[in-house]
Amino acid sequence: MMVLIRNIPAVHEIQQTEVYVELLHNKHIPDLIVKGWIKECLSTLRKDILDDNEKYNDYSRNDFILLVCDHLLKKSDSYYEYNLRTVLNGTGTILHTNLGRARLSEAAIKRVVETSSYYSTLEYNVAEGKRGSRHDIIQDLLAKATNSEAAMVVNNNAAAVYLVLKCLGKGKEVIVSRGELVEIGGSFRVSTIMEESGATLVEVGTTNKTHPYDYEQAITPETGMLMKVHTSNFKTVGFTKDVSTAELKEIASSVMESNETSTNSIIIYEDLGSGSLYPFKHDGIGDEPVVKEALKHGADIVSFSGDKLLGGPQAGIIAGKKSIIDKLKKHPLARVLRVDKMTLAALEATLQSYVYGENVRDIPTIRDILQTKDEIKNKVHVFLDKLPDLSSLWKVEVTEATSQVGGGTMPTVEQDSVGVKITYEGISTSKLEKMFRKISIPVITRVVEDSVFIDFRTIAIDEIPLLHTSFLEVDEQAKKLHTSH
Ligand SMILES: *Cc1c(COP(=O)(O)O)cnc(C)c1O
Repeated sequence: MMVLIRNIPAVHEIQQTEVYVELLHNKHIPDLIVKGWIKECLSTLRKDILDDNEKYNDYSRNDFILLVCDHLLKKSDSYYEYNLRTVLNGTGTILHTNLGRARLSEAAIKRVVETSSYYSTLEYNVAEGKRGSRHDIIQDLLAKATNSEAAMVVNNNAAAVYLVLKCLGKGKEVIVSRGELVEIGGSFRVSTIMEESGATLVEVGTTNKTHPYDYEQAITPETGMLMKVHTSNFKTVGFTKDVSTAELKEIASSVMESNETSTNSIIIYEDLGSGSLYPFKHDGIGDEPVVKEALKHGADIVSFSGDKLLGGPQAGIIAGKKSIIDKLKKHPLARVLRVDKMTLAALEATLQSYVYGENVRDIPTIRDILQTKDEIKNKVHVFLDKLPDLSSLWKVEVTEATSQVGGGTMPTVEQDSVGVKITYEGISTSKLEKMFRKISIPVITRVVEDSVFIDFRTIAIDEIPLLHTSFLEVDEQAKKLHTSH
């Protein structure tokens, strides 16, 4: 065993190999990193020998050097591979939270690149040559897009809910209907956020029915807010009743009028969840409220996500009365939850498409939701027409299906879609699904009726060449599997 240990090369011996030189000078990997890999490999070898001296029994010094070089080459292969990688979304779910929700418009991407390549006016007032506020960047645009007096942006909608409750609800009672006490995936519960914020949750009504008198009876001098939460990811059907924003406004106003001695003002806050700016219901898709409507019906403030139906970057937008927004902007949490310049750049461009743009379909989320079955079918045909030569063991069939919007929005909306059902003779569905994930650009598919299915609603026309490459790669692997049997 001692002999073996003595045969293990030293770091400087590896540094004399061609592989080492290749990594440093051709692959441009920093010396420090390569040295780290060498040390890591040598210490593993030493440990392996101490654990089991049979394993490398007949290894010469040169064999060890080759072994280390092999290890270095493997390491260097994955050195430039990112952990955050591109995938093709074949699930048909447009706002797939696990796959990054909304794709940005070309205009938004361009703005992100420009803003992060140069210095910017993030917090600088060029006219006056002094400090400015990052809130001012999209305040006007947001106000225009939502018909509100003022607006601000934080990290995401969960952060927006937290800021609103902490700043305006802390130490007060906040009334919420039991039917709206939702959990929005990733352990975001309204009740938990409320507890964390220091506001006291007052639940009214039942899971399926809440009436105006439930709120009226629950209001006390400690009431600071009536909160409405959009039940984004589910829908109660049948024997149901909820209280509208307009009704809430009326209740709050009459309480405040009848109680002139009280200095208490009751805020109506609506967490809209996805907060659409585009009226999808006019196209017969779902019945998602648009932000303007919620504000028109009497909400003092609303909050919603930037990367759900809006189709922009991850962000939480709060819009409504100026006096309230000003208070939120001054709260210390606003600094904690502030957004980066890239977010603001992308959001500004996305909002411009809504306010001044010629075609909202420039926003991929809107485009993908509005796509008709014929448009999707056309993409499938483009894909099939140019599909490269594959083994005859493949079967690729055009199949119709339904897809969902996702991201916890429009839960009951099932849209007609088209895609391809794929089988490969001799390879199981689960194996094939896995093979599509384990290639350079993974394709995330759906298993439908025990076949792999790629839904083309979420495959953009310019992604089709990438999808062809994916098929070729899986074809290669499948051939190898077959010949090894
Ligand atoms: C999605 C959602 C949230 C959380 O928004 P994020 O932007 O994901 O943080 C909060 N409330 C509702 C009603 C939602 O649908």
